[in-house]
Amino acid sequence: MTITKIVELEDEVPPGRAGIAGIDPDELADLPWLVPDFLTPEGRMRMSIHSFLVETPRTRIVVDTGLGNDKPRAVPHWSGLRTGFLDEMRATGWPPSSVQRVIHTHLHIDHVGWNTLLVDGAWAPTFPQARHLMVRADFEHWQAEAARTDDDRPGWLRAMTDVAAVWADSIAPVAEAGLVDLVEPDARVDPYVRLVPTPGHTPGHVSVLVESRGESAVITGDLVHFPCQIARPRWTSMLDCDHAAGTSAREEFLAKFADSGTLVLGTHFPDPTAGLVVRDGAGYRFES
Ligand SMILES: [Zn+2]
Repeated sequence: MTITKIVELEDEVPPGRAGIAGIDPDELADLPWLVPDFLTPEGRMRMSIHSFLVETPRTRIVVDTGLGNDKPRAVPHWSGLRTGFLDEMRATGWPPSSVQRVIHTHLHIDHVGWNTLLVDGAWAPTFPQARHLMVRADFEHWQAEAARTDDDRPGWLRAMTDVAAVWADSIAPVAEAGLVDLVEPDARVDPYVRLVPTPGHTPGHVSVLVESRGESAVITGDLVHFPCQIARPRWTSMLDCDHAAGTSAREEFLAKFADSGTLVLGTHFPDPTAGLVVRDGAGYRFES
């Protein structure tokens, strides 16, 4: 069993622009284990957008598909990208046609982009042999949001999520091609991989548990964006659909996986992306 990370974008942002509600730079300074991997010595937070390639004895699975190339987006540094993401996948021995499953932890802009490629002016499936697993609650929620004409959400939120465009160019084309399986949030994917419900960030948000020969790993999804939220689970993402549910899911996740030996793989954690959640006084810390 191997899990490989393919990076699409890495970034550094000041805490005030990290999209985390309640974050306090002074409290960050109380978490010295964040420096230098997750927090630069200057106090900027490091983040990454990447996919995980999970190779089980049965199945080739891509977990989350980033932003994608050529997509027109409201956020300038996410728009019209031309990254070598697919070339890197091929160099790892994963041509797109070899992918059998795509799992989406949720259907946000930075988790569905490589579902499609611009081919002769139209959006075509990137992974035509793959079943794309989407949790029904998320699919139905974002389908309805994309169709809304009375969108009264704040401008920054509309820009960050770009819901209608994402639906049209990254979700609808794979659904119309018959490649989507709507699944429950605790679905089993193969004998080694299953979904774990962690709703809050979005209604159907899931983490992904991988188990083999008594060992296990879990891919967080956006249950946690930054390792500092492991120490401060009450710091929520400003993009959470339900902040209280997101916080509960995070607290349950930490209690379940702390000191368990399960390797935790952060969906937006920069290198070293994998580590263990360990109890630290009354809270937790990420040990990579
Ligand atoms: Zn994300």
